[in-house]
Amino acid sequence: MCCPFLGDESKNSMAQAFRSTRVLTLQGLVPAVFVVEGERIVEVRSWKDVPAGAQPRDFGDLVLLPGLVDSHVHINDPGRTDSEGVGWEGFSTASRAAASGGVTTLVDMPLNCVPETIDVNALEAKRAAAKGQSWVDWATWGGVVRGKAEALPALAAAGVPGFKCFLIHSGIDGFSWVDEPELRLALGKIRETGRRGTGLPLLAHAELARPVNAATEALNATGANWRKYSTYLASRPDAAEVEAIALLIRLAEEFETPIHIVHLASAQALPLLAEARGRGVPITVESCAQYLWFAAEEIPDGATEFKCAPPIRERANREALWAALENGSIDMITTDHSPCPPAMKRRDEGRWDLAWGGIASLGLALPVVWTALTRNKIPSSTKQHAAMEFHGLPPIGQKQERPMDGAQFHPLWVGEDGGVERGGVNSTASIQRIAEWMAAAPARLAGLAGRKGVLAEGADADFLVFDPDAAWTVAPKHLHFRHKLSPYIGAELRGRVLQTWLRGEQVFSGDGVSAGFVGSPRGRELVRR
Ligand SMILES: [Zn+2]
Repeated sequence: MCCPFLGDESKNSMAQAFRSTRVLTLQGLVPAVFVVEGERIVEVRSWKDVPAGAQPRDFGDLVLLPGLVDSHVHINDPGRTDSEGVGWEGFSTASRAAASGGVTTLVDMPLNCVPETIDVNALEAKRAAAKGQSWVDWATWGGVVRGKAEALPALAAAGVPGFKCFLIHSGIDGFSWVDEPELRLALGKIRETGRRGTGLPLLAHAELARPVNAATEALNATGANWRKYSTYLASRPDAAEVEAIALLIRLAEEFETPIHIVHLASAQALPLLAEARGRGVPITVESCAQYLWFAAEEIPDGATEFKCAPPIRERANREALWAALENGSIDMITTDHSPCPPAMKRRDEGRWDLAWGGIASLGLALPVVWTALTRNKIPSSTKQHAAMEFHGLPPIGQKQERPMDGAQFHPLWVGEDGGVERGGVNSTASIQRIAEWMAAAPARLAGLAGRKGVLAEGADADFLVFDPDAAWTVAPKHLHFRHKLSPYIGAELRGRVLQTWLRGEQVFSGDGVSAGFVGSPRGRELVRR
């Protein structure tokens, strides 16, 4: 039987309809049904208005969200997935982890593969490695390294959505970091990819080497104990981020080229960023789930699974990052999923200076952020409020204070106004914000606005089914990336991804006990045109 909403061009693909009382559409979280023809959403209708002839899949009151977009993922493919007998993360495992967490689009960083994605030949090698391997759609940033600015226009023409650079050693010798003269050369080339302020973005790891080197030398001179987390934290001071961001703001303004600050960890840079954004400098900002969930005070000495750069900072800093998300000073949340073979975390020695810097977390970010956002605010001290006021951010509203561990939750979904949460917003608003931070905003960064990250007419039919109330504890069996080593193991979370759909077909099914991947890897590259 033919459905009346089938166009001539889609004779071969039956239309599908999906509905729930809680669908995140452009109108907010509302009862709705959306109609999918082939791979795209062709219509979003009110819940009762099921097209004639369609038998909708009804998800009751489970939440239907647009597929998430993680614009900051490190995949070691090609070149490192089987090197020297110790495999790093490949497309297959990374994309399974993504699908399990509702991430339907990931954007790979250019440094962890061999060859590094710094020219078109390397991009072609990446495409070959991904072929038939990815469970979700993907793109890759091009790399900006010393002496290779000439390669950038060709990479842009070949379809990368933007570029990534480091202002400090990247951890990968083959991916050199750049100083201001090199940045200027690169920005001159990148500027040519678009009109003022609208060209491809340059993503920057914003830490300067000088403050880090100075701090490290001072620590070594006094015989610092590198098993202590406090030593590592002291070795990567806030100043390294603040000074790098000041430089990047200056360059974004001068070159009228978008610069994106990846993994902002230091709240001390927020006033600078707010001021620059306020006067129209094209600069965007992300923070990562780990900076919003963990706090330096809670990290055990020697627990190098928590090592990332910049480092996870103190509780007061974390609260200021949350405040910045809530007031729009931070645009988005990514994972910076950056795993390694377990031996490289050197857990037996517990030396923070020797361990690989990178946290494995792909697939967990949605419940982590949802849990953090809907949990009672973490106890705030006078010091925290003073810190936020010092940085020019509004103190978070008065809240009932409860300890972080064993946190209790307000009832969720008690009508439109139910659930007092962090920042005093309700559950509906929280879901909307999460979809903005984790789907729509990173989709815009990657040049995918309207196609990815929204449930709307014309968008790819990428979505996830979310049970916001399911409580669970993270165990290795929940992790679908290659090596089950993550600081989130043991975390008590709320909210589970039950299904993930990519372009109209289900790719993941999980009920909290078992998890499965459906069909075969059909993710494709999102080539910018
Ligand atoms: Zn990264």
